[in-house]
Amino acid sequence: MEPFPWWTEQQKKFAEELYKFVNEHMPAAEKAFWARKFPMDIVRKVQEKGYFGAGIPKRYGGMELGATGCCIAAEQLGRLYAVGHVFVVSMLGGYHQLLHFGTEEQKKKWLTKMAKGQLGAVCITEPFAGSDAASVMTTARKEGDEWVIMGRKRFITGAGPADRYFVYAKTSDDPEVIRRYGHLTAFIVEKGTPGFSLEKINELIGFENVPNGYLNFDDVRIPDENRVGDVGAGWAVMTSGLNFERLVGSAVVGGGLEDIIKMVIYYTNRRVQFKQQTSRFVNNQFKIADMITWNKLARLITYYTAMLLDSGQNAAVEASIAKLLNTDYAIQTGLDAVQIMAGDGLTKFYPVERLVREGKIGQIVAGTNEIQKLIIYRMGVLSYLDMPFRLRIDPELEIPILSLDDSPWKGKEITEEVMLKILAEDYRANPGLYMTIEDLQKETGLGKEKVLELVSALEQKKLVVNFRDSRGNIIMSKANYEGLRRAYPPEHYRYFPSWFDPEELGFFG
Ligand SMILES: Cc1cc2nc3c(=O)[nH]c(=O)nc-3n(C[C@H](O)[C@H](O)[C@H](O)COP(=O)(O)OP(=O)(O)OC[C@H]3O[C@@H](n4cnc5c(N)ncnc54)[C@H](O)[C@@H]3O)c2cc1C
Repeated sequence: MEPFPWWTEQQKKFAEELYKFVNEHMPAAEKAFWARKFPMDIVRKVQEKGYFGAGIPKRYGGMELGATGCCIAAEQLGRLYAVGHVFVVSMLGGYHQLLHFGTEEQKKKWLTKMAKGQLGAVCITEPFAGSDAASVMTTARKEGDEWVIMGRKRFITGAGPADRYFVYAKTSDDPEVIRRYGHLTAFIVEKGTPGFSLEKINELIGFENVPNGYLNFDDVRIPDENRVGDVGAGWAVMTSGLNFERLVGSAVVGGGLEDIIKMVIYYTNRRVQFKQQTSRFVNNQFKIADMITWNKLARLITYYTAMLLDSGQNAAVEASIAKLLNTDYAIQTGLDAVQIMAGDGLTKFYPVERLVREGKIGQIVAGTNEIQKLIIYRMGVLSYLDMPFRLRIDPELEIPILSLDDSPWKGKEITEEVMLKILAEDYRANPGLYMTIEDLQKETGLGKEKVLELVSALEQKKLVVNFRDSRGNIIMSKANYEGLRRAYPPEHYRYFPSWFDPEELGFFG
């Protein structure tokens, strides 16, 4: 396991130690996989070593290795299959949420237990709520000092072995509160609480010996001290936890990549066809080169995101990218590994096909990869909105070229006629585009109201087309054909490259 240069000495030592620990327990994990048994004995050893406390601050009994430490643990324990998944959901069932939203008493109580290895689970998904996580129907109502939880959760990893369940429930039906995402609250429910039961364990591809199932909350009473964060702050608690979840969830899938690459290299150096080792075929080499590239890229984004979180920065976009790349690369690596090992790759004895199933699970859990793309677009796009250039007609070349976005119209009196000329001039450079109201504000130096007044007046005179948003507000404007005619004579818009002579063809002759 290659350490990153920015890791601390402790993190590097932790990674080395875990690598050895995991190698030692790999055969037992493989046996458990084949026997379809949850490897509780290995989990106990992980607990004894204190690895569940990887990210937990020392004052609560942890190792204080941050999100980076959690990723190192997830990456390595992921090689032990079920152990890694249970480690991850245990972290997800409270670690980040308690650190950021818990009271000091809650941190002392729960983080200390987590550091000792208490198994946890995170409970968001329900029969009614999947990708649309805000639409949970499980309710929590306040009765005296207690909350009464009623509802169901499904697809919960760790359901059964976990002792601590981090549950999101609805605490308001007010449409206005729901519109502001203030209707959810986060709670911790412990195994053994009356009315709380396990309903079903799923048979899932890729989760051969990982318990994942349905939970039933039948008027489960819990004390108010088990509420994490304010009443109505559940969405903030959930989404901040989800960034961490996506990150460690990607690390656990990524952990398998390195072993598979080693397996493929080992295999192709020993398999001979056409009097050559199959590692000598360039198509196999190219596939292995891709796998190495993906492995390095996946780890890079994982640990870069962890570093951002550890330094207190927002990493929502990066966490989604980490999840997207780790899971997509896992599937592609698994598929290519099968192709390189061909018939042997299809046997379950060489565990390369397992990575395809693992990757597929990864593409769906913690928000599907489509949802990650929505997040990456919606949040990522904000960093790209500041466009310092725009296409303008260069006075010498008389063609549109990328120019600094400073306006030749500023300081001039902007009448309706000038506004029309501005829109017509933009047509010369960007014939297919509208100008936004902000573009026009920048271009004219006018305030929004004045710009809207001018483009509305031009619209009434049928000289521009104004584009409106769903609420009917004008957001963009563009000169129409009559507007272009009024703004400038036809020659103003003409441009012909040097190799083209319109007069030769009988135009303007
Ligand atoms: C193995 C496994 C482990 C899991 N572990 C847990 C756990 O521990 N805790 C927990 O709470 N949940 C868990 N889940 C649930 C998981 O998070 C959900 O399955 C996931 O969020 C998707 O929800 P869904 O299955 O209901 O799909 P749906 O939401 O029904 O989505 C169906 C399809 O529509 C697409 N889609 C949905 N909305 C949009 C949109 N707005 N735009 C574009 N496409 C969209 C999705 O990408 C998907 O392809 C687990 C699931 C699995 C399979």
